[in-house]
Amino acid sequence: MYADCHIHTSFSGDSDTPPREQLDRAVSLGMKRVCITDHHDHDVVSDIDFELDFFSYFDEMLRLRAEYENRLDICIGVELGLQCRIAEYLEGLTGEFPFDFVIGSVHFIDGLDPYYDEYFETHPKNAYERFFEATLSRVKKIDCFDSLGHLDYIVRYGQKHGLSYSYREFAEYIDPILRVLIEKGKALECNTGALAKGMNDPNPCREVFMRYRELGGELVTLGSDAHSPENLGFGFDRAGKMLKDCGFEYYTVFRERQAEFLPL
Ligand SMILES: [Zn+2]
Ligand SMILES: [Zn+2]
Repeated sequence: MYADCHIHTSFSGDSDTPPREQLDRAVSLGMKRVCITDHHDHDVVSDIDFELDFFSYFDEMLRLRAEYENRLDICIGVELGLQCRIAEYLEGLTGEFPFDFVIGSVHFIDGLDPYYDEYFETHPKNAYERFFEATLSRVKKIDCFDSLGHLDYIVRYGQKHGLSYSYREFAEYIDPILRVLIEKGKALECNTGALAKGMNDPNPCREVFMRYRELGGELVTLGSDAHSPENLGFGFDRAGKMLKDCGFEYYTVFRERQAEFLPL
């Protein structure tokens, strides 16, 4: 079973799952390695508290890493909400704490999370375009992440607003993002959270991985984005086959921010 490198626990404001439940699930699935990546979306307005208490997080994760030593290799990561105005803060944070892996994600655009309808109501004509433009400016400005999380995250929510989506329709917005990732040596995450929600493609969709490969991209990370145990590792067989079809032979895992390659 592939290593799951995008997992949430109750350290994330939107998960109630005790870390042990995720780790026990990984062991029962036969995983050898995981990376816990709880949310830290700093300086956002939300009903949910997306700030992470890094000191208690590391205390607990280091304790669990020792406890599971013979059963599971536990890496300690984080999913940072990228925003240009906090670029320096994020750089400082990743210098201060010894993360194995940093996912950079775009969750808030113009102060709104597309998880909620308000984002689509305030961007009736350009919901996807604005999301991709914001993503491009953030990956250009910010360096302190290893993999870009769920590049087309917004598509998870755009469907119910009747928005159509394909790589081809938004290629002029997506290609520049892929080029920046490749130039900077950043990975592209294959996030299977959408599969667990019954959608047909992971985030981003297959065509984006084909394009990333075509442009010379080689680094893909794999994560379920599970907020509860039943979704951990969800759809990994499908995702692995898709990545192989797109020309990848390896996926990437990070330890102490260094890339290691495992066969697909
Ligand atoms: Zn996310
Ligand atoms: Zn996540």
